Amino acid sequence: MIPFSPPRIDDAVINEVNAALRSGWITTGPRTKTFEKEITEYCGCKTTVAVNSWTMGMQVLLHWWGIGPGDEVILPAYTYCASANVIVHSGATPVMVDVNQEDFNISVDAIKKAITPKTKAIIAVDLAGFPCDYQQIFDVVKSQEALRQFSPNNDLQQKLGRILLISDAAHSFGASISGVRSGALADISTFSFHAVKNLTTAEGGAICFNLPAVFDTDEIYKEFCTKILHGQNKDALAKTQKGNWRYDVEEPGFKCNMTDIQAAIGLIELRRYQENLDRRKAIFEAYDQAFSSEDWAIIPLHTTENKISSYHLYQLRIANVTEQQRDAIMQAIFDQDVSVNVHFLPLPTLTAYKKRGYKMEDYPETWNKYHNEISLPVYYDLNDKLVLRVIEAVKIAVKQVLS
Ligand SMILES: *Cc1c(COP(=O)(O)O)cnc(C)c1O
Repeated sequence: MIPFSPPRIDDAVINEVNAALRSGWITTGPRTKTFEKEITEYCGCKTTVAVNSWTMGMQVLLHWWGIGPGDEVILPAYTYCASANVIVHSGATPVMVDVNQEDFNISVDAIKKAITPKTKAIIAVDLAGFPCDYQQIFDVVKSQEALRQFSPNNDLQQKLGRILLISDAAHSFGASISGVRSGALADISTFSFHAVKNLTTAEGGAICFNLPAVFDTDEIYKEFCTKILHGQNKDALAKTQKGNWRYDVEEPGFKCNMTDIQAAIGLIELRRYQENLDRRKAIFEAYDQAFSSEDWAIIPLHTTENKISSYHLYQLRIANVTEQQRDAIMQAIFDQDVSVNVHFLPLPTLTAYKKRGYKMEDYPETWNKYHNEISLPVYYDLNDKLVLRVIEAVKIAVKQVLS
């Protein structure tokens, strides 16, 4: 069976994890701090806080920004449930909008129409690793119309003076627009290092800050390190210093720090990340070439004049099929021992969001993209022979179901 997205675990990773274990320091410590610095350098953002998942990082972020009941956060209907769940848990209302025709990302026009005086943030999702139209979204949140409606309800929001633009960069580590990497494209970007993502730490995430200069980056970094550790003003490492046991808790915090065991995996992943991107790109190009001559294939957009994907997901679409036919094609691919996937079940199709009143028919382009989508395997260890097997399996399956 060709798996969908296994992690790359080899001696380099195992040795670094061993070194972390043998060092005697296994929770947040030197490796986590180095990992944060290297992410900041790689992404070109102002500072980075490592956390135990995208989800908890985003939860703390929304809490810090003061988002709560009565507020609205705009996001695409086409994303993983985590993007919306964190908004629900904050007490605010997720305002879902539709996606573009030409790619899988949030529509700037739809954002414009969805802004109200209650809008406090936008979560734009770089689906499959293809960056959203950040410049255009910034133009919208900085437009006279949006500024006029904006009503801050705390000092941070007042200081920014407009809607906060957050990137759900769970897929887009290493992607770029005009040479600016994901992590530095929005006000704040959050990565996921879950086992299936491009860069993994088993579970993990990072919050990258790139707020305007009126914000004190060092101050924010310190504040977040405290917030992700119960609000305790000294971390475990600081407390090991001789006699340095006393601490204070100024406000109840969360608990979602990254461990040095996770960071050990991340450091190896990051230092060889370009190889990973190059291999992924080659796989994308092989799929492009194999399917572009088929009249049933709709090829995903992953490169434009200024945007470069991180090649996270290859979202092939099959023209003129129903959702049931797509499912049948997937089954026929699985039957040939090739794993495929769907990204994603749109939020309005999930019980949790149906119950909250969201309706699939309100997001026609999201449905259009979802109902005929099949994600193909993409990962470093997928060699050319295996890529050919995937391509063959897809072609045979489509022929079987459609003829
Ligand atoms: C994986 C994923 C998340 C959640 O990441 P975790 O690290 O598992 O919390 C959020 N958004 C998108 C789009 C994802 O694919």
